[in-house]
Amino acid sequence: MLQTANRTAYNEDHAAFRETVRKVFSEHMEPYLDQHEEEGIVPRSAWKALGDAGMLCPTVAEENGGLGLDFGFNCVLAEELAYLGSSAGFTLQNDITVNYFERLGSPEQKEKYLPGMISGDIITAIAMTEPGAGSDLQGIKTTAKEDGNHLVINGSKTYITNGQNADVVIVVAKTDPNAGAKGTSLILVDADTPGFARGRNLDKIGQHSADTSELFFEDVRVPKTNILGGENRGFIHLMEELPQERLSIAVSAMGGAQRAFDEAVKFTKERKAFGKTVFEFQNSKFTLAELAAKLQVGWAHLDWAIARHLKGELTTGEASAAKLWHSEMQWEMVDACLQLHGGAGYMNEYPIARLWRDARVQRIYGGTSEIMKEVVSREI
Ligand SMILES: Cc1cc2nc3c(=O)[nH]c(=O)nc-3n(C[C@H](O)[C@H](O)[C@H](O)COP(=O)(O)OP(=O)(O)OC[C@H]3O[C@@H](n4cnc5c(N)ncnc54)[C@H](O)[C@@H]3O)c2cc1C
Repeated sequence: MLQTANRTAYNEDHAAFRETVRKVFSEHMEPYLDQHEEEGIVPRSAWKALGDAGMLCPTVAEENGGLGLDFGFNCVLAEELAYLGSSAGFTLQNDITVNYFERLGSPEQKEKYLPGMISGDIITAIAMTEPGAGSDLQGIKTTAKEDGNHLVINGSKTYITNGQNADVVIVVAKTDPNAGAKGTSLILVDADTPGFARGRNLDKIGQHSADTSELFFEDVRVPKTNILGGENRGFIHLMEELPQERLSIAVSAMGGAQRAFDEAVKFTKERKAFGKTVFEFQNSKFTLAELAAKLQVGWAHLDWAIARHLKGELTTGEASAAKLWHSEMQWEMVDACLQLHGGAGYMNEYPIARLWRDARVQRIYGGTSEIMKEVVSREI
């Protein structure tokens, strides 16, 4: 179980919420982790179970039908999900997409989507990346051409989290192809709109239970009222959400890193070689001691970052530094912990194998480590 005794980011309400999260995960997620991995998707029934327990989009204001809780509640869920070792896309909805709907949505858009996002009846995705453009988002080719009161969308997206499950997708498209970043808008596309098609549920090296997919748009016609936020202000809206998105990945990184460490401690204290436990070798103890120091620093830093974000003070540079440090640390952690397992670490039946392969992408999505360094360096 994830130890939280020395955490400073949370209060008693967060602790009570954590108990609910653990209970729901132990009932509706833990027994099915392997099934989710094999099927490449987390079923809607799991989303509904979380929704019923008030675990989806808890930050949505009461006037919009939510619980009006702070982002710390999202962090509790993200930590527990990562510690469990699941790559379900709940955090994408809680930490990323819901903010776009609540902050930028028209009253009609909020009414149409928010209640379902909270209850688990509506699953969302955000589609920025394309086959030809990821880090360099200004290079996207998907267009949304005006036709009277409508927009006609053409293009394709790839690596989209929740791509198979999604009922509605926030599509990043060029509404003014000649204006560069200033000609980009966020457009809502319901999955039943003619011309929208899901491609493959992509075959990844890890995070198998996340339905990361291709999406295709062929003359997808939507009313102009489907623009989320300001027309041609898509890039600005994306930038505004960056601190929280990057912090969210840092939170998951700590949960995954801690689980890997706990697994390594357990394994090395049980496994025997040369007449003693593997833990007793100086190399094992020193490796674990170094990793323990990283976890101690990591949790303290994470609490600092969460507290700053709750006050609205976390900058994009600080959040990017957090994403960079925590995801790189997670990778060091899972790799060292797998090594301490010996051959068992390479066997899928041990949790460390999944923790290791799932961690790799944390240094890539949400902005690569190289892009994080670019962003951090801009504030130096
Ligand atoms: C599992 C998974 C889930 C994802 N989910 C989503 C999602 O839900 N929605 C979505 O829109 N996208 C999603 N992505 C896409 C993800 O955000 C991108 O893959 C990521 O931003 C990198 O873009 P890219 O793949 O095009 O790599 P590229 O941009 O082609 O990068 C290739 C290499 O070049 C480096 N590089 C690029 N530019 C620079 C630079 N300026 N300086 C130095 N190095 C540079 C990169 O760091 C990298 O090492 C997901 C990806 C994965 C793998």
